[in-house]
Amino acid sequence: MSSFGCPFCGPRPLEEFSFHKTLPNVPGGAFEEVYLRSDDPTDSHEHWQHRYGCRAWLYVRRNPSTGRILEVRQLTGSAP
Ligand SMILES: [Zn+2]
Repeated sequence: MSSFGCPFCGPRPLEEFSFHKTLPNVPGGAFEEVYLRSDDPTDSHEHWQHRYGCRAWLYVRRNPSTGRILEVRQLTGSAP
């Protein structure tokens, strides 16, 4: 993965983006997030920012094993 598709700017170099966090993959609260967490090697839900571009916060779903981007969209709602 050497480029990343920003929904506002189009394909941009990976260096313009910064990873923020991986979202928990189990519903519930803090207990579930910590103790019932299971890492899926093929489907990761993450928050990224186009830091050196439009600065938009992005929701990204990708396959960590291959680096393939499955979905990118603007992150809406409260700050990540
Ligand atoms: Zn952008």
